[in-house]
This record gives sequence, structure tokens and C-alpha cells, in this order.
Amino acid sequence: MQKYQRHVNDRATPQTEPLPGTVENSAGGQSYKVSRWQQLDRFLILGAEGGTYYVSERDLTKQNLTAVKECLAEDGPRAVARIAEVSERGLAPKNDPALFALACATGSPDLATRQAAYQALPRVARIGTHLFHFMEYRKVFGGDGSGFRRAVRRWYAGKTPEQLAYDLVKYRQRDGWAARDVLRVAHPPHSPVFRWAAGKPVEEALPQVIQDFQAVQVEGADWRKLLNAVARLPREALPTKWLTVPEVWAALLPGMPLTALIRNLGNIGKCGLLKPMSDASRTVVAKLADENALREARVHPVAVLLALATYASGHGLRGSGEWLVVPAVVDALDDAFYKAFANVEATGKRFLLGIDISGSMDGNRIAGTPLDARQGAAAMAMVAVRTEPNVQPMAFATEFTELPLSRKLRLDAVIKEMRQLRMGGTDCSLPMLYALRHKLPVDCFIVYTDSETWAGEMHATQALKKYRDSTGIPAKLIVVGMCANEFSIADPNDPGMLDVVGFSADVPQVMRQFVVSEP
Ligand code: CA
Repeated sequence: MQKYQRHVNDRATPQTEPLPGTVENSAGGQSYKVSRWQQLDRFLILGAEGGTYYVSERDLTKQNLTAVKECLAEDGPRAVARIAEVSERGLAPKNDPALFALACATGSPDLATRQAAYQALPRVARIGTHLFHFMEYRKVFGGDGSGFRRAVRRWYAGKTPEQLAYDLVKYRQRDGWAARDVLRVAHPPHSPVFRWAAGKPVEEALPQVIQDFQAVQVEGADWRKLLNAVARLPREALPTKWLTVPEVWAALLPGMPLTALIRNLGNIGKCGLLKPMSDASRTVVAKLADENALREARVHPVAVLLALATYASGHGLRGSGEWLVVPAVVDALDDAFYKAFANVEATGKRFLLGIDISGSMDGNRIAGTPLDARQGAAAMAMVAVRTEPNVQPMAFATEFTELPLSRKLRLDAVIKEMRQLRMGGTDCSLPMLYALRHKLPVDCFIVYTDSETWAGEMHATQALKKYRDSTGIPAKLIVVGMCANEFSIADPNDPGMLDVVGFSADVPQVMRQFVVSEP
């Protein structure tokens, strides 16, 4: 008998063959294509830095820019509003994609879109560095000069002299020239701070932070006599050789913004200030425990995760320097990671977490950091493990495997564990088949993946239907997209499936809403 029936079986289609609505992914399999708005979110949150396992940074940027332009053409003000929201709420690990997309909006042929973009400028470009990056990006897109000049003048008018002065002393090396460029283009109102920035003589009194800056920058200045000035300055304003002195870091520490603190734990350890049982350790632990401060400073979970992975290793990323690790600080970072997500609350539902550990997942970097998508996926899964009482994690590539994540596990151990795990091909139907095999009652599958799936005998959506049919449970599927490609295993026409962007700081909230809503 010729098995004709297997060619028309719509319950098990190999992943290399299409289903209605699927497109070919980069691995030669078939996936759904996410909407342009979902693609915009992926770009804003994950960026295109480093490309993916399959696609170069250049091509990934072009793909994402196409999606940004399509959103702007479809509804410019809506796209600008989303760009501003993602930036302002601190949903993304990095602000550059938002600045790039906003610069693109200022080059739109539509006047309402351009105006909305310039209006949103101070919300997206909050500090001088953001403004300079925006200017660089804008060169690519053109746009009208007068609208831009007005926007920059408004931007400067919205800052106090003290804020401007702080910005100028902090970023003077990296962006000093850029600041002068901006001033030349925008002709902001005359003020002593601007004249000082332009290197002209100033007779009026300058803000305290500039006076402090001038004091520490005097040739041969002695830090011992200037610790009060040091305490008021950002570390970038100090002579570099002072940054190996523990007393200097001790003076900086109380006023140091949280983001700077998190990024500099290694440096503070290296100079010998951050030691077990020290005052500095207690200060750092207390600062990291402050949930409101974390939120106000828009500390992103990825920044915490990166700091944790580096600090807990006891040496710099490129082997630059060593420090004695303080376990209390690692614990505080571990807690801060979870606190940095918007309110996380348990649903009580039953979850199966499927983490894609295939080869492509370590070719994807999380927002340009050294963390790969596999480590990022495990860290995201830990949020569910820590929050929900009924969770079973597993990992898959072309086979499934146990993944012993527990709420007792610290994130540095999780990341180390993920380094050991690596497998070849990809079959995203496996989380559902795993639940079937082990007869697990599951309300929601959460699959952390780049959706570059190709190896399975059936599509993930078919495996989900099979699971629903054989158990009678109307199980849902959430796909946590781990790179800014255009693919998903979720069927956009099935209301029981949802796409979210891995590492958007509001992901746990969005998931919760979806999981508790009626199917
Ligand atoms: Ca893969």
C-alpha cells in the first residue's frame, strides 16, 4: 500500500515543510513570521548588535530597519510612542536602538511623524550622550534642519545649568567634541556653562561641579585634599590614576548612581575597597537591595546579570585584574536581578519551561553583551522558577534533557551550568512532546528560543494541538524571542499563543496577564 495519507496528514508536518502562514527560517525549517510591530519591539529591546548565529550584524540591522520603516509608514505617531515608551520605561538593556529608530522617524516624509519624533526627543535622549548618539544616527536619515535645531534648543532649555554641567564633565572625553558640534548646530541661548564648554573665558560663577572638576584636574592635584570634591563628581571626571586608590572610591561610593555602581563592582574590588566584612560591602549590599532606587535608576536586569557573572568570577572580562569575591555582594546582585523586573507575581498555574540549548543559541548575544542567548534564556527561566510554585524546567535541542534549575540556585551557578550544555540541531516541538511523554499537566508552555527550528517530525503548533487533544487541557504557549530575527514558533492566529521579547523588563507582567486571561 502506498502511504498517501502521510502526505496529507495535517497533524504531523515535518518542520522543513510549510504550514499555512509559515515562512522559511534561516535554518531551512519553517516558522511563523512575527508582525512588524513585534519586530519593532524585538529590535528596540534586543538590538541587532553582533547579528545572530545565521545573519551578520549588517543584514540583521537592515532587516530590522525595514520593520521600523514599515511601522512608521503604517502609523508614525504610534511607532514613535512605542519607541519613547520602551526607552522611558527602561524596558531595553540599551538605549541605542530607540535612538536609532527615533532618528529614522525624524527622516520620515510625514510631517506628523517628524513632529512626534522631535517632541519625543527629550524622553528618549535623556542625557548628553544620548543626544550625541541621536545626532550621529540622524546623519543617515536626513530630515529637516530647522525642526531638528528647534528640538535641540528645547532639549537644552529643559536642563538646569547644574544638570548640563554634570553632563559636560562626565562625558567630556568621549563626547566633548560632539557637545561642541551640537552647540554649533543648535545655537542654544548664551550661558556661562556653554561658554566654558566652548573653551572661552568666563567671568560669572560656574556651577559647583565644574569648580570641583577644575580643582581635581589641576596638574599635580592631591586627592587627599580634595575628597569633598571627589564625592560630588562622577568618576569619569577624575584623573585616571586616582581610580586605583581605595580612599577615592570610598568617597565616590555614597553618591555613585546605581548603574555606575553595578558596572564598577570589579574596579571597586580590584582597588581593595570592596572586601568581606568591610563598610563598603555593607553600603553596596544596602544600595542593591533598594527596590525603588533600582526602578528609579532604570537598572535593567541584563545589566545586573552581566555584573553578577563578571563580579562572581573574581576577575575582569579579559583577565584584567582580580579581586576577592564578597558572597554577600553576589547574593545582593542575585536578588537585584529579580527586583529589576517590573512587579513579578505568581499565577499559581502549571508551567513547563523549554529552554533551547541548540548550537545557534550561543551565536546570539543578548543586546550586544558577552552573555549568549542560552544563558539569557536560563536566566529568564529562573524568573518563573523563583516566582511560580508549579514549574518544571527542561532543555532541548533535538532531544530533551533535564535541566536542574531550582529557586535555590544562584544565577552565577546557572550561567556556569549553561556553559556545559550544548547540543546540535533544533526541534521546538519537544517541550510539548516531553509533557506528553511524562504525562505532565501543563497550563502554559514557555519556550525560550530563536525559533530557528527544523529538525522535528511535526511543527511545534501541531505538538501543542496534540497535547491539547490528548489531555483535554487548553494549554497555552508563550514564545520568548531571544534574538531580533523575524521568526516565531507561535501561530499569530491562535489566541492561545503569545510572542514576547526576551529581556524586556516587563516580560513577567505581560506573561502573567496572558496566562490568567480566559482562553
Ligand atoms: Ca538552533
